Amino acid sequence: MKKFSKITSILLTAGLIINSFSGVAKGVGVTQVKQVQLSSSMSALSTKESLEEGKIISGFKLESKQWIDDVHSTAMIFNHVKSGAKLIYLQNEDENKVFSISFRTPVNDNTGVNHIIEHSVLCGSKEYPVKDPFLIMTKQSLNTFINAFTGADFTMYPVSSKNEKDFDNLMGVYLDAVFYPNISKDPRILKQEGWHYEINSETGELNYNGVVYNEMKGNYSSPQVILSNTINQSLFNDNSYSYESGGNPENIPDLTYEKFIETYKKYYVPSNSSIYLYGKLNIENTLKFMNDNYLSKLPKTNVDTAIKLQKPYERRVEKTGLYPVAKDGSTENMTYLSSNYVIDKISDVEDVLVFQILQAILLNTEGSPLKKALMESGIGTNAYGSFNLSTLQPVFSIITDNANESEKYKFKKVIEDTLKEVVKEGFNKELVNSVLTAIEFSLRTQNSNANRGLNYMFNAINCMNYGMSPTEYLEITPALNKIKSKINEGYFEKLIQKYLLDNKYSSLVILKPSSGLNEKKEEALKNKLSAYKASLSESELAKIKKDTEELKRWQGTEDTKENLSKIPTLSRSDLSLKAEEIPTIEKLERGIKILSHPIFTDGITYSNLYFDSSKVPQDKVLYLKLLANVLGNVNTEKYDIMQLSNKIMRDTGGISF
Ligand SMILES: [Zn+2]
Repeated sequence: MKKFSKITSILLTAGLIINSFSGVAKGVGVTQVKQVQLSSSMSALSTKESLEEGKIISGFKLESKQWIDDVHSTAMIFNHVKSGAKLIYLQNEDENKVFSISFRTPVNDNTGVNHIIEHSVLCGSKEYPVKDPFLIMTKQSLNTFINAFTGADFTMYPVSSKNEKDFDNLMGVYLDAVFYPNISKDPRILKQEGWHYEINSETGELNYNGVVYNEMKGNYSSPQVILSNTINQSLFNDNSYSYESGGNPENIPDLTYEKFIETYKKYYVPSNSSIYLYGKLNIENTLKFMNDNYLSKLPKTNVDTAIKLQKPYERRVEKTGLYPVAKDGSTENMTYLSSNYVIDKISDVEDVLVFQILQAILLNTEGSPLKKALMESGIGTNAYGSFNLSTLQPVFSIITDNANESEKYKFKKVIEDTLKEVVKEGFNKELVNSVLTAIEFSLRTQNSNANRGLNYMFNAINCMNYGMSPTEYLEITPALNKIKSKINEGYFEKLIQKYLLDNKYSSLVILKPSSGLNEKKEEALKNKLSAYKASLSESELAKIKKDTEELKRWQGTEDTKENLSKIPTLSRSDLSLKAEEIPTIEKLERGIKILSHPIFTDGITYSNLYFDSSKVPQDKVLYLKLLANVLGNVNTEKYDIMQLSNKIMRDTGGISF
């Protein structure tokens, strides 16, 4: 059905700062060379007088305004006085505009109520009373992104578009969806998106059905999802992170219509929202639209959605979980082992950056000491780390897969011994420097990435959700420089001692394969449902059958033409006839033709070298492919393969052939 995805905790941080450390460039035939001098071609935008700090524009008070070099934008932080909504606008010349509205939505059970609300509000609203405005907008708008996410403690509705009218349309549909959804008018929405009983004949089998119910059943087969949940359960036994925000299929049917509506009403209020705007847009008009149509009409409510801090544990805990594998399937070498540490003190971007760097140094490269030690110990086939910022108290994890449960103490010992040795001997400076370069590089490529507006959004909303300044994670260079100045003082080594070696607030998680687990669960479900069916009176059963038919009929009914016409569309006059122009300068140097594109790349030079292969005979063309695979993977005149690989990683973002 819908293209919704639920953010798992590990994914959320992907947008943050570091994307990958691959030493090889993505994309075929692209050579990326790092330029030393940083471009400053983009200067602060001229800003109108009305946009001065302290001024109120359409009910929004401009609290602060500052240029942020790292994101090449003027960041304006607004507060909607009447409703209490918070808003950040990143003003810049990017045509790919972004809007999102997020709500803080902590959970206190496993029914997946926030996830079901996320789906349900997009099933028709006051202005757009059709069954699936979301699906229609995915098809009939020029969106460059449209989706909705449920995180561990927030729910987010982002859209982006390069067309101004389209952007306004999308924003309108989303604001109407979150503030005036049809969910309380039509109980069928919960049944469809959440769960319902289904029976096709009185003698047939009684079943559960529902979009989120089915989605989470699929999710619960993924060991990565179960591992992430088990890690959270091991570390946060008293607060909302011990629950699964997406919903556990076993508990989703516990959700009542009353609880569903009550949760929506509690969380979906402006004072509990964070709005994000990005790109080249008419901010005055946008603020006016939000104020006049939505925020000025909604009351200010004082809802307490603060997330309770988990009291740190006094001793390390161990937790075992199970994930399903096929009946009669092998379970040999299929266990996940994970050592997890709560980093209880994150107050600014430097703290976040430091742990991301530490994770990279310890685990992300082939020369990383912890990765090397774990691989050489023979435990599992893959060792990696994660630094998860999607909980109020972030978690640092060291994970190995394809291992055995019996190796858990060896796993623990290898980690301890390696970390102790690193603290004693200090890190290899070459490794630290190449990781720092890679981080800086990935930061700059992110700034010239087509989706940068969305990347910044996750960073800004993450901060707003935890009561920090929305710009805290957007200014990275000063923090990175501070870290660089401290690396020779044993900075990382001290952090390892304090937060990994001496940290009692930690856990060892063992996730074991269980053959036939799904089959066992299915069997138990079948028994539960048939016992329930047996307990029903004839008329109760007839009612379920009638409801099933009625829901199917409703789902099969087309929306009326009148209602469909309410969904905004673009006309030809809304489209620009001008194609996007990429400036090209052509010149000849030493007989070589050079084409250059003077566009914003945040100081990174991308260069492609093309060689004429028209003289290669047809039957030798395949050897060109072989040559491209060989280059970069063999010794050269000046360097052996290791030196070459280090040099490529240190001085470039990657070279490919
Ligand atoms: Zn979903």
